[in-house]
Amino acid sequence: MMAFLTLLARNRLAAFGAIVLALLLLLVLITPWLPLLDPDVTQPANRLRPPFSPDHLLGTDALGRDILSRLLWGTRISLAVGIAASLVAALVGSLIGIVAGYFGGRTDNLMMRGIDMLMAFPYILLALAIVAVLGPGLMNALYAIAIVNIPFFARNIRGVTVGIAHREFIDAARLSGKGNLRILTSELLPNVLPVIVITMSTTVGWMILETAGLSFLGLGAQPPQADLGSMLGEGRKMMLNAPHVAMLPGLVIFILVMSINLLGDGIRDALDPRLKSGALSRPAPITRIRRQPGHADSQDGPDDNALLTVDELHTDFEVGEQTYRAVNGVSFAIRPNECLGLVGESGSGKSVTALSLLGLVASPPGVITRGRVSLAKRDLLGLSAGQLRKIRGKDVAYVFQDPLSTLHPLIRVGDQLIEAIQLHQPLSKVEARKLAVELLGQVRIPNPAQRADQYPHELSGGMRQRVGIAMALANDPQLIIADEPTTALDVTVQAQILALIQNLRDTQGTAVLFITHDFGVVSQVCDRVAVMYAGRIVEIGSTAEILDTPRHPYTRRLIDCVPRLGEPDNEPAAIPGLPPAANALPEGCAFADRCDLVEPACRRGDIELIATDADRRVRCIKPLGIADPTTQGVTT
Ligand code: ADP
Ligand code: MG
Repeated sequence: MMAFLTLLARNRLAAFGAIVLALLLLLVLITPWLPLLDPDVTQPANRLRPPFSPDHLLGTDALGRDILSRLLWGTRISLAVGIAASLVAALVGSLIGIVAGYFGGRTDNLMMRGIDMLMAFPYILLALAIVAVLGPGLMNALYAIAIVNIPFFARNIRGVTVGIAHREFIDAARLSGKGNLRILTSELLPNVLPVIVITMSTTVGWMILETAGLSFLGLGAQPPQADLGSMLGEGRKMMLNAPHVAMLPGLVIFILVMSINLLGDGIRDALDPRLKSGALSRPAPITRIRRQPGHADSQDGPDDNALLTVDELHTDFEVGEQTYRAVNGVSFAIRPNECLGLVGESGSGKSVTALSLLGLVASPPGVITRGRVSLAKRDLLGLSAGQLRKIRGKDVAYVFQDPLSTLHPLIRVGDQLIEAIQLHQPLSKVEARKLAVELLGQVRIPNPAQRADQYPHELSGGMRQRVGIAMALANDPQLIIADEPTTALDVTVQAQILALIQNLRDTQGTAVLFITHDFGVVSQVCDRVAVMYAGRIVEIGSTAEILDTPRHPYTRRLIDCVPRLGEPDNEPAAIPGLPPAANALPEGCAFADRCDLVEPACRRGDIELIATDADRRVRCIKPLGIADPTTQGVTT
């Protein structure tokens, strides 16, 4: 609630609307106690006095009634009718929407066809027809406005409900034995309530206008009672000789509706989490780069044989006042045909590192603040969006963690492959299809020709991931980045996928950046491994050596997390504690708080990545198994 209010207050226009509306509300609430003249008493002798006359601050109307008094009482009525109408419409409309959306089938059909019938008429005509049947009067105008706005709520809320009604947490509630009523009130309602509030806040202004419209036509408030619409209607006849009689209520309607709409928009923005995180601010096509001039190169000389070199890469997320250092100086190189594992706990910055390489981190909030990425000696971070697009999916391909959410659910897998092929290769549809089927066969999907004509939901999880890998292979990439490609799969399928990747490396010579949190997987596929912690590499070297003699306490703990076959006594041990928050990284070693070998020196200054053996580096002042790193260290 506090967060909501702060967000609302930060939106200047909404805050302005809120203040104006609050003032108006306060005024009409205290109206009965203000020293005002009776709004309905006529004084023919005093007719059409201009504003600022004695006794009549805003003048009088054609019957000599005090306009200030009538305005305040009229605003009171207009507001009350508008708000009451939107409450009724929201209540009835949402109820219809929720019931139709939740129960579906015939209930849905019946209710929605009724709503469709209401919507078949232009709503202001419908409102007029309803008032004509019920007879003119304020209450009847209220009913009419409420009824014509019901479809608006019903349709909106039904749409949201349908989206939620089939989600797993509803199934879970049903499985736990809850009845429909309990599910509707405790599971569904809290999820649609923000939408109801948003819809209401954006329609109240409309309803006030519509009520004023009916009164203007003489179908709402009846004389002598005043509301803003009827005052406007009466003033219309003397627009030329006494313009203030019509202009004052017009001005109040304008201010009232404007302040409500400004506030309503603000409420919508503050309540919708997607708008909050900037879903509407279109992200830039490539990650923003703001490299300070003259940054220091990493300690390594360039590796001339490397396919991909990443040098001191820094990627931050700038959210409000906070800076989250997701990637904090990462350097590594991958040679052709080599598989480098990137290992670390969830949140250590593996995905952001991989996404940064191709400028795929969303900006805002992501910014690359330092570093260099070169692919075959070409600086990737200096490229334009167009140039990068030619590399994405062609020279460097990406395999994502969740194969279901990366495939388009409404397009056949074959067509998705064909699209990926034709983006980078000048092939005809027939040739591309032939290649697509070939690729599906290459990733060992049985009956590839038939499978190509199926939709993603008709394939199993393992098969979908194979399609993802086939898509990555489509344009013979030099490098495949696989971000936890087997985490969503069970162990047997995982083993098949790993074997497949191994096979592709052997036959096509592709280099692989393999991201995982599992040392068990690393040992099966990676030649070298880089261990990440809190946005930095804490140890890097060949897989066999690191598994055999981990130098960093964190690496040792990670390896201990893997259960070993045939050693039932060797219980996998979890690492106690949590990694530091990316917006409040401690000085010194980020792992110090969780390390059982910590000493005061660990918390001072910057801990460098030092070479301990040939081609091995560790970011620790007392690497395991080495007495004094300064004398034993081998520099390459
Ligand atoms: P993982 O190693 O599990 O792949 P990530 O690379 O996804 O971790 O995330 C690294 C860090 O960056 C985490 O601390 C995460 O909270 C932060 N982060 C990722 N995306 C965003 C974002 N859009 N806004 C702010 N912080 C983010
Ligand atoms: Mg990740």
